[in-house]
Amino acid sequence: MSRVFNFNPGPAALPLEVLESAQRDLTDFNGTGMSIMEHSHRGKAYDAVHTEAITNLSTLLGVTDDYHVLFLQGGASLQFAQIPLNLLGAGQTADYVNTGAWATKAIKEAQNIGTVNILADTSKDIPTTMPDYATLPYTPGAAYVHVTSNETIAGTQIKCFPKTDAPLIADMSSDILCRPIDISQFGMIYAGAQKNLGPSGVTLVIIRKDLLARAPDSLPTMLRYRTQAEKNSLYNTPPTFGIYILMLVTRWLLEKGGAAGIEKINQAKADQLYSTIDNSGGFYRGTAVTEFRSTMNVTWRLPSEELEAQFVKEATALDMSGLKGHRSVGGIRASIYNAVPATAIESLTSFMKTFQATNG
Ligand SMILES: *Cc1c(COP(=O)(O)O)cnc(C)c1O
Repeated sequence: MSRVFNFNPGPAALPLEVLESAQRDLTDFNGTGMSIMEHSHRGKAYDAVHTEAITNLSTLLGVTDDYHVLFLQGGASLQFAQIPLNLLGAGQTADYVNTGAWATKAIKEAQNIGTVNILADTSKDIPTTMPDYATLPYTPGAAYVHVTSNETIAGTQIKCFPKTDAPLIADMSSDILCRPIDISQFGMIYAGAQKNLGPSGVTLVIIRKDLLARAPDSLPTMLRYRTQAEKNSLYNTPPTFGIYILMLVTRWLLEKGGAAGIEKINQAKADQLYSTIDNSGGFYRGTAVTEFRSTMNVTWRLPSEELEAQFVKEATALDMSGLKGHRSVGGIRASIYNAVPATAIESLTSFMKTFQATNG
């Protein structure tokens, strides 16, 4: 078997243990004589998977009975519209913080639907940064406040979530479960699964129950959070195989010591990579300000675009895949999600030193 070090931004690396476990069970799930993919979403075998996924997520994130854990489809991108459709009533204002490419997309969708107030805009700042969330001019009586927990392209991450009067909603697509959170601070969190939770095709939404009543009855059934909350995400056929893999990932995370355990591992990985950048005498230049550096997506530049292209090419030849920065910003990006092992960072930092010694 030949596996490369996978630094893809999303879909991204999955734990090898999870893939192997899924492979073992692929054609005969738990002695049932069929794949989990072939089981009814209303049968016993799948029900156990669905229930365990919700239970494990609730354990890992400290989710209480005040919330519903939902498995939806359409990616985080559909959430950009579904949130205002459900939660932003006529005559109300929703607060948004624009910190980069993903927040910009969320804002665009919300503006199609209702009144949006942009509290701060750091989306064009170089080096990439975020505002001071504690002192933003929040709108009194806002329908909700929307933030992007981790800007996957810019390589920035909220380090301390604000305490807001209005329900706080966070797009955690690229850093969910990378660290513990206090769920009671949020009205809703959401994430496309394909970065830190599992394969593409599943969207995790955790929403406070009192918010479900806000959606107008005129909203199409499938777009109302209430519909899936009342049916435990089984109103229609959910993406069963994706939820199964997600469940295996949650098991893996529990074995790693949960959110606090994985946070320690993530911090050590990020520290090693950032210190290699910082100790390169300016050959490598981090593109995010230090205080908002992401532990999930590490972004940096080299002295020239030619060297960046050469860096990616040589790294790829050494089985380090997915290091090219997003086409909109260039440079290098190493996505080091939960499932990227420490050995991948060791391989990358060792290559970075060699590359600098040859080309610096
Ligand atoms: C990848 C990403 C998205 C888009 O997710 P899809 O599931 O592809 O719609 C949204 N927000 C953030 C922060 C992301 O990283």
